[in-house]
Amino acid sequence: MKAMICYQLGIEVGRPVRIRVGRLGHFLFPAGRYVYTGSARRNLEARIARHLRKEKTLRWHIDWLLAAPGVRVATVHRSSLSECVLNQKVAGRVLVPGFGASDCRNGCGSHLRYLGGVSAVTAVKNQVR
Ligand SMILES: [Zn+2]
Repeated sequence: MKAMICYQLGIEVGRPVRIRVGRLGHFLFPAGRYVYTGSARRNLEARIARHLRKEKTLRWHIDWLLAAPGVRVATVHRSSLSECVLNQKVAGRVLVPGFGASDCRNGCGSHLRYLGGVSAVTAVKNQVR
């Protein structure tokens, strides 16, 4: 079995939020569903647990988004694929160029993708049931 080295967070933004994302600056995140792809070659579970915790020092771009009001992680998916391969499988738009992609050498543009509005969230919830 291949080791799980990457993860994808399915994120729900309940209402539009305008927040600072570290040094990238301020951005408006429309309500809807997002997918963030990250990697942790060691201690993957600890990394995921950290993302799910609200209280923490804001360090990575994703920390700033997850700390915003009305934002929550709805799903966690683990993978043995590389971060960029996984990210590029996600349809969806880049809203914040460079988000989570400081180390990216594969032209992803961003490791956060916006899938769309509230109806998309509902559709995914219905699939889960
Ligand atoms: Zn990438």
